[in-house]
Amino acid sequence: MRRFVFDPEMRDGDTVTLSAAESYHITRVLRLQPGTGVEVLDGRGGVYTAEIVEVGRSVVIRLLGRQEAGDCGRVRLWVGQGLLKGKKMDGTVQQCTELGVTRLTPFYSSRCQGSMNEIRERHKAERWERIVVAACKQCRRSTLMEVDEPVDFTAMLSQVDHGSGTLRLIFWEEEQEFRLRQDLLRPGSIDTVCILLGPEGGLSPAEIAAARQSGWQTVSLGRRILRAETATLTAVSLVQYLAGNL
Ligand code: SAH
Repeated sequence: MRRFVFDPEMRDGDTVTLSAAESYHITRVLRLQPGTGVEVLDGRGGVYTAEIVEVGRSVVIRLLGRQEAGDCGRVRLWVGQGLLKGKKMDGTVQQCTELGVTRLTPFYSSRCQGSMNEIRERHKAERWERIVVAACKQCRRSTLMEVDEPVDFTAMLSQVDHGSGTLRLIFWEEEQEFRLRQDLLRPGSIDTVCILLGPEGGLSPAEIAAARQSGWQTVSLGRRILRAETATLTAVSLVQYLAGNL
């Protein structure tokens, strides 16, 4: 069955009016007719069977039944990503969505390319949200990945909880010893893992020192220096595996 996403604010009892973009897709692209069965997601984990009631500029559907999905695992994975150039950031947003990352915070650090304003503009364009919605539909994920407004590196470090239930890791190509290990994520002890990965230019020694100072653990992904987008894909996959989320 085709899947669509709706905004819970647009729900009135059992009926929901879909966004202009989803309506366009249903009416103009797929040419679905009233009476067609669909599946819809509220972006918060709710998946419903529904049927199309009205087509047109605004499609109206009727919700028929709810199923709980819970497809993102027990441990929440929060990724802080140093801002990457254009398409690379888009690819990372998509892959993180597919791999079940709960939350993605893009951060601006000393070796990022492009200005903070340019980056904020791009975020405003809601481009990343659109990528998240499309990826969720494609991989049948029912809870949207949260994408935050970009923040600077210092804010990234300080906004993550310091409590014992949160594991804070920062991936650094100069770390010689510390690697991901199964016992980092002993069942029951950790409910959130937050991982930080640098932009193309990497993180500066001062940034690494600041992170360590506030209790972040530096982690190696091996002796080879990976491209930023390869490093993120690898780190996310390994952490999700260790967390039992794959
Ligand atoms: N510009 C740097 C490399 C940056 S790679 C240089 O050429 O030296 C971009 C990011 O990927 C890094 O900030 C780090 O978070 C991650 N990364 C790449 N290779 C890594 C490795 N072997 N171990 C841990 N993290 C790595």
